[in-house]
Amino acid sequence: MKAARFYDRNDIRIEDIPEPELKPGTVAIDVAWCGICGTDLHEYLEGPIFVPPEGHPHPISGESAPVTMGHEFSGTNHQPRRGRL
Ligand SMILES: [Zn+2]
Repeated sequence: MKAARFYDRNDIRIEDIPEPELKPGTVAIDVAWCGICGTDLHEYLEGPIFVPPEGHPHPISGESAPVTMGHEFSGTNHQPRRGRL
């Protein structure tokens, strides 16, 4: 799948990445629309602000750069039976 990945300030790349694995209690969304908001713009122009730099993973998510951008989106549940909470 295609994803916009934040690597560092002024460095966002459109890449092919593997489909994420569906974990228990989560759902897969087929994204119809995804917006770029002010937070994304500031991360691009002045970051990293919220994205943990490579080698410094977030204490809860375990993620660090590069991370997939886009947190304001709409879509449909890809696997409604498997992902119910
Ligand atoms: Zn936002």
